[in-house]
Amino acid sequence: NAKILMKNFEDEVKDVFEQTKATRGGKNASYIKELEKVDPELFGVAVRTVDGHQFSFGDDEVQFSMQSTSKPLLYTMACEEHGPDEVHRWIGCEPSGVRFNAFTLNDSNKPYNPFVNTGAILLSSLIARDLGNAERYDKCLKHFESLAGGSKINFSNTIFLSERDTADRNKALAYFMSEHDAFPKGTHIMDTLDFYFQCCSMEVNVRTMSNIAATIANNGVDTVTKNPVLSYRTIHSLLILLFSCGMYDYSGQWAFEVGLPAKSGVSGCIFVSIPNLMGFCIYSPPLDFRGNSVRGLDFCRRLNERFNFHLFSQI
Ligand code: GLU
Repeated sequence: NAKILMKNFEDEVKDVFEQTKATRGGKNASYIKELEKVDPELFGVAVRTVDGHQFSFGDDEVQFSMQSTSKPLLYTMACEEHGPDEVHRWIGCEPSGVRFNAFTLNDSNKPYNPFVNTGAILLSSLIARDLGNAERYDKCLKHFESLAGGSKINFSNTIFLSERDTADRNKALAYFMSEHDAFPKGTHIMDTLDFYFQCCSMEVNVRTMSNIAATIANNGVDTVTKNPVLSYRTIHSLLILLFSCGMYDYSGQWAFEVGLPAKSGVSGCIFVSIPNLMGFCIYSPPLDFRGNSVRGLDFCRRLNERFNFHLFSQI
């Protein structure tokens, strides 16, 4: 019956988790000082199914900053407010093929996609423009929490200050876009950057992040209350971008190897949404040179070897 199946599945995932412990290599992100200090041995995994079962292993209570995994959530916020068509008047939908913080725009002088830094900074400028900074942040936090099934999301002021202190790159990217008239008229660049850094500094653990991944896997519907959090148009656009642009400049290879909507962040977190089935999240800080968690990638590859969750495995 369903309970036994669930238990078997949990045991299999635990086994993959244990095997992945042996994976070494990679380095914590160092360009944000506070991330460099984090214990590289931390390792946690959480799974949440669309029918609301949850289990987790390892360091499942440890809080980490969302970093780039906040970008898809910001995207959903912009899409709910303006609709995907309007959002994509400002931002493209192609993988960039280069680093997430590269100085590059597409042929129309727009960010390549919402998940590179230029794209996420632009998203930040589109959201709740009529609100003050405090109200905008509050609205964003509530939106993130609603995606997390009501779990509390924290904020690390330490990470925020650390990001802001070493923000030359992101400031330069914002002014580079401003020079190319990429922002809507009247955009306040520093406020926009602060909002972007605040989103990167939101803190979760793997369980909270797996709730978010499960809401996405469940087509934007809360797995417990069954309340819709995202519209069909938003979730549709989001899943496409997570599939094609979610894993930095490894996204094409990822589509071959794992083939699932996912997003990674430089704190060492990867969340994966398997449509209509489950969401999961891995946290392990050491990254490869592209910014993906080494153990995180390895865990996903191993899990796929056992279950073949690849979106095109049925054809
Ligand atoms: N806060 C990071 C930055 O802006 C996020 C990068 C990431 O996770 O990809 O550089």
